[in-house]
Amino acid sequence: MSTHPLDRREFLKVAGVGAGAVLSGCATAPGFLRSGRGGSNIVVVGAGAFGGWTALNLQRIGARVTLVDMFGPGNSRSTSGDETRGVRSSYGDRPHGELWMRWARVAMQRWRDWDAEYAKPLKMQVFFPSGDIILRSDWEPFLKQTKAWWEKNAIRHEVLSVEEVAKRWPQFSLKDVNVVLYEPDAGIVRARRATEAVAEVFRYEGGRMIIGRVVPPEPGAFDGHTVTLTNGDTISADTFVFAVGPWLGKTFALMQNRIRTPLGTVFYYGTPIGDQRFTFPNMPSWNYPGTTGWPGLPVDNRGFRVRGGGGGGVQPAAANGAAANNAGANPGGADSAATRSATPAPTQNVTDPDPAPVG
Ligand SMILES: Cc1cc2nc3c(=O)[nH]c(=O)nc-3n(C[C@H](O)[C@H](O)[C@H](O)COP(=O)(O)OP(=O)(O)OC[C@H]3O[C@@H](n4cnc5c(N)ncnc54)[C@H](O)[C@@H]3O)c2cc1C
Repeated sequence: MSTHPLDRREFLKVAGVGAGAVLSGCATAPGFLRSGRGGSNIVVVGAGAFGGWTALNLQRIGARVTLVDMFGPGNSRSTSGDETRGVRSSYGDRPHGELWMRWARVAMQRWRDWDAEYAKPLKMQVFFPSGDIILRSDWEPFLKQTKAWWEKNAIRHEVLSVEEVAKRWPQFSLKDVNVVLYEPDAGIVRARRATEAVAEVFRYEGGRMIIGRVVPPEPGAFDGHTVTLTNGDTISADTFVFAVGPWLGKTFALMQNRIRTPLGTVFYYGTPIGDQRFTFPNMPSWNYPGTTGWPGLPVDNRGFRVRGGGGGGVQPAAANGAAANNAGANPGGADSAATRSATPAPTQNVTDPDPAPVG
């Protein structure tokens, strides 16, 4: 937030698409940095996927950036602090899905670029291009619209026959499946490690990182220049970016009734010892009504991942609260909960009023 409100489009350009151009050396500093309208001293609150990348990209175009997080980048309570997250561009069920689709495609390329630059020095690959299959009994509007947008945007995809799927990935049970869409460029990101890595690179390149909790400003009391931490320290800047994810409603009273924070449930299952069918690259990520999932990733192999849908509006714990909102536990040991078939997956029985965002 700024006393001179940023042009939202301009900010999104910087935080998102603009950085690619900067990295490739063809961008100029955006107006709000050049003109001093917002100033170049920026505080980003929240070091999750959104805050971390925003801080890094702003710094790379010349801003002086401080990144503040109450628990640290990749922490267990944050949404980005789970083991893995899928990146796919199939959003035919969303009103603005075509935009999401393009953003997701940029994200895939960004993660590839990240690995090309950092996998070796950091000795850690973060993006695993598993491909993604959508399994359905018929051509639902979601599939039809996704396919139409893929065609319009020249995005690589395949319509697979059930026989083809059975041949390529015999570990799937294909009962009731008649239609399959495949996006070969989709993949899986090591979320927690990537979030930590982005923050580390930000620091390495000169960024300032503070572990501390910004006290949510009293309604109407935020002057746009200074925030206070719970230890009493104050931080001043010309521009503030609050990238506090599901805490947004708790941070600004104004947002309380404007955002929804559905709870998702993620399970990581142990697979049979020596059985590589459920490990990258031997199976794609998948989307079946009500659940999504993907293979375990080498070499730590935290398990075969299954996600159920969200339910209800759940506020994240306060700073001193307990539960993390990512169920990152592996409920079975290496020999238990072996997943023999990847559809009707064994997830917790959750009611999902809005099944689309499972990812
Ligand atoms: C179970 C589940 C599965 C999901 N699966 C997918 C998927 O497969 N693919 C996909 O694209 N998306 C998926 N999502 C969504 C995705 O994880 C989120 O959109 C993304 O991680 C949000 O990142 P963020 O940076 O906005 O928030 P977060 O990662 O939650 O980061 C917010 C940060 O703000 C900090 N913070 C909050 N308040 C303060 C304060 N007052 N002072 C200082 N710091 C503060 C927190 O400590 C935290 O680190 C899933 C979400 C869930 C819950």
